[in-house]
Amino acid sequence: MEDLNDLNPEEIPGVREDLENDTAAAAARIQEYLETLNNIPLNIAITGETGSGKSTFVNALRGLSNDDEKAAPTGITEATLECTPYPHPNYLNVTLWDIPGIGTTKFPADKYLKLVGFEKFDFFIIISGIRFTENDVKLVKEIERMEKKFYFVLSKIDNDIRAERRETDFSEEETLKVIREDCVHRVAQLGIESPKVFLVSSFELHLYDFPLLQQTLERDLPKNKRDTLLFVMPNINPEIIIKKKEAFQNKVYYYATLSAIGSAVPLPGLSMVVDLAVLVSAVTEYVFAFGLNVSSLKRLSARTGVPYADLCAVINSPLAAAEITKERVQQALTELKHRATRTAASRYIPIFGIPLALIFSFNENCKTLELILDELADDAQRVFERALV
Ligand code: GDP
Repeated sequence: MEDLNDLNPEEIPGVREDLENDTAAAAARIQEYLETLNNIPLNIAITGETGSGKSTFVNALRGLSNDDEKAAPTGITEATLECTPYPHPNYLNVTLWDIPGIGTTKFPADKYLKLVGFEKFDFFIIISGIRFTENDVKLVKEIERMEKKFYFVLSKIDNDIRAERRETDFSEEETLKVIREDCVHRVAQLGIESPKVFLVSSFELHLYDFPLLQQTLERDLPKNKRDTLLFVMPNINPEIIIKKKEAFQNKVYYYATLSAIGSAVPLPGLSMVVDLAVLVSAVTEYVFAFGLNVSSLKRLSARTGVPYADLCAVINSPLAAAEITKERVQQALTELKHRATRTAASRYIPIFGIPLALIFSFNENCKTLELILDELADDAQRVFERALV
């Protein structure tokens, strides 16, 4: 178990005073804060020539297979000159933009960037299936001038690895190193100093350099956007699942406080009063970020070929792979109540100057949410192992 000091929620200005004087106002403030957190926009520009694997990469980041009805069309030879927004299926505040490769337009790089509305993008991913060209570099120089971040992604690396595997002295690590160094060298020769190049297979995001790309993006983003990126990331490794859980642990305070304030309803058979609607919101967030909602699991099944039923078979929580209703959450609370751990003290210290009368409810809510979070994170871990390992 993590140290208590790891839990370090940001204090919402004004909440402490409101809690002492007017709990309804405090609830409204917390609610507004959570809504803002959940709606931070993230716009990711993906550009590259036709055939580079742009659409497949966009689909992979959205957790879709290329034949999903919401997928970006792939394998087309016509170059699109339009910027096409592809919202993330679970997070409408996150959009991946397929923007035409600069080589497909007649515009010089500066005009091109103005035309695509570069200001709205948080960063650019320049993708190529073979090697980066002068066109890519021209664009990157302009992106740099506009003080935006960019990353080179060499796609279809699985093909290279497959081809090299036939060699007798094959080493995946060595092959990747050679390709990466060659790519970095070529881009540097075209005038970009220390370019960030990532070798990726959109069919297997958990392999090669994609995890490193994810870490780099996370590090480079402003702090307030890091969790937004984290929650949309597919579960490509156990570390991502742990990070998602930690991000939610910080929010437990807010949900527990909200539920305690709104806790007018004593639940039959439970020694606690909760606001079920608040718990439903929290649980829904967890389930979606862990990819444990029905449609995410179906998409994972379509992407990996592992039958949906096999993914469901490793899930323990009654809240995963199901519609999250008040009844279902209430049922889950009843089951949790019988767990020995419920008698353990809550590791969350009420920090907000919460009224004494609400502390019991706050503690119970914290324990409940933490147990649910633990269980869902464990399920996410097992689903990841079943699907990808
Ligand atoms: P776009 O024109 O840049 O959008 O490229 P697409 O996404 O349509 O991809 C072009 C072709 O490359 C399609 O047949 C894809 O299946 C294939 N492709 C794309 N990404 C990968 C990858 O990472 N690995 C492999 N093996 N094939 C890929």
